Amino acid sequence: MTTISEEEMTTLKESISSTVLVPGDNHYDEVREIWNAMIDREPAVIVQCEKAADVAPSIAFARKHNLEITIRGAGHNIAGNSISDGGLLIDFSLMTQVNVDTASSRATVEPGATLGDFDAAVQQYGLATPVGINSTTGIAGLTLGGGFGWLSRKYGMTIDNLLSVDMVTVDGDSISASTTENPDLFWAIRGGGGNFGVITQFEYALYPVGPDVFAGLVVFPLEQARQVLNRYREFTGTASEDMTVWSIMRKAPPLPFLPEDVHGKEVVVLAFMYAGDPAQGAQYASILKSFGEPCGDHTGVMPYTDWQQAFDPLLAPGARNYWKSHNFTGLADDALDIMIEYAGTLPSPQCEIFIAHISGAANRVTTDAMAYAARDTQYVLNVHARWDDAADDDTCVTWSRGFFKATKPYASSGAYVNFMTAEEGDRVESAYGTNYARLVAVKRKYDPGNILHMNQNIKP
Ligand SMILES: Cc1cc2nc3c(=O)[nH]c(=O)nc-3n(C[C@H](O)[C@H](O)[C@H](O)COP(=O)(O)OP(=O)(O)OC[C@H]3O[C@@H](n4cnc5c(N)ncnc54)[C@H](O)[C@@H]3O)c2cc1C
Repeated sequence: MTTISEEEMTTLKESISSTVLVPGDNHYDEVREIWNAMIDREPAVIVQCEKAADVAPSIAFARKHNLEITIRGAGHNIAGNSISDGGLLIDFSLMTQVNVDTASSRATVEPGATLGDFDAAVQQYGLATPVGINSTTGIAGLTLGGGFGWLSRKYGMTIDNLLSVDMVTVDGDSISASTTENPDLFWAIRGGGGNFGVITQFEYALYPVGPDVFAGLVVFPLEQARQVLNRYREFTGTASEDMTVWSIMRKAPPLPFLPEDVHGKEVVVLAFMYAGDPAQGAQYASILKSFGEPCGDHTGVMPYTDWQQAFDPLLAPGARNYWKSHNFTGLADDALDIMIEYAGTLPSPQCEIFIAHISGAANRVTTDAMAYAARDTQYVLNVHARWDDAADDDTCVTWSRGFFKATKPYASSGAYVNFMTAEEGDRVESAYGTNYARLVAVKRKYDPGNILHMNQNIKP
């Protein structure tokens, strides 16, 4: 890293209209915070981008001074790839505009928009596209790695609904990519992450959704987990693609609809959303309740945007988090037994074992259609260790790694790059499988010097 003189900093500040922060400046510490409190890094320079035109000068400045470039949407990447010590952070948190074209059912979105910003804007017109389940997540990072949520069984991954992007290359050129313009790049960014350039705008296809949906939670004691998960497996194998049910094992939070004696006890939760006629969703909810004897449930008709925020309180920023994840083409008996066993040894009240069910439209896209390759995935397991005290780091990380190892024999090939922790670089190649060689070729074309390497890195 080279030393940057005050004069050079002044030149940067004068060449762009965005705010530039350096250590010691007001707000520097709050702006450098990201979702996972395990990551505490101090960039040399933060550019709080207010317009796309400020990206190229920021990249040029970083390259001139040999500063590692990181890019941040909403800072939810678990590995903390959006920030580095001593680097230059291109922070998009001020660029959150979402423009909806109802005539063509499309939305253009700035790269700092959260899922909450996106959903709020498109739902004004009763529209949506599949995104994740926590409204504070950034649409940029989520999209570039794949993206899935409550609408994915019906409409596919987020990338399956991406129509185009605008991007600034590491050489400062502004280009666009779609199936007709720079199609090699468009192929690569749909799953290949932030490896190829800095995206300044995303464009998505939209569908009529809600605005009301039938959704909710059905909670069973962990003692019934095996029976409930057997029925869950059966149900998810045949249910309509309007119906998405994820299963979560954790200690029960003090939710008002749960009896007090359940709070803090291990439970299995079926969280679901029905994307079609709410009356039909209510019928499906009754089926879920029959999987065992629920200790509580909270289901009903609610605005889609409310359901999209339902998990926010349990996923608030500021806690320490460590994730491990596998893809599955099915839920083997032995794998379920291991999950239930680990659910009985949760090392903190906030740890969760999440099984996301995504089979449906995403499976009907061919493996080589775009960089994201795991098209046979039916379920995604996320071992979400979460705790508050740094003294518990070892215990929680060890638990998570042990669980990951124990369930590995049942996992399919491939992995979801958006759930990878920093030390999983060796899984990147296998995550892309037969698409990896093509990704390397695109990386060589757009970023041969691997300037953008703070990501699930594709080495040129
Ligand atoms: C609480 C929580 C819930 C989640 N739920 C889901 C879910 O339901 N479904 C799902 O699919 N995923 C989910 N995720 C994972 C999520 O998709 C990733 O964490 C994703 O990286 C978040 O995007 P972000 O923009 O907030 O990340 P950031 O940390 O800001 O960015 C992550 C990386 O993306 C790249 N990047 C970001 N912006 C740009 C840009 N403009 N140009 C080029 N590269 C860029 C960079 O490489 C950056 O390091 C969840 C994560 C969290 C923490």
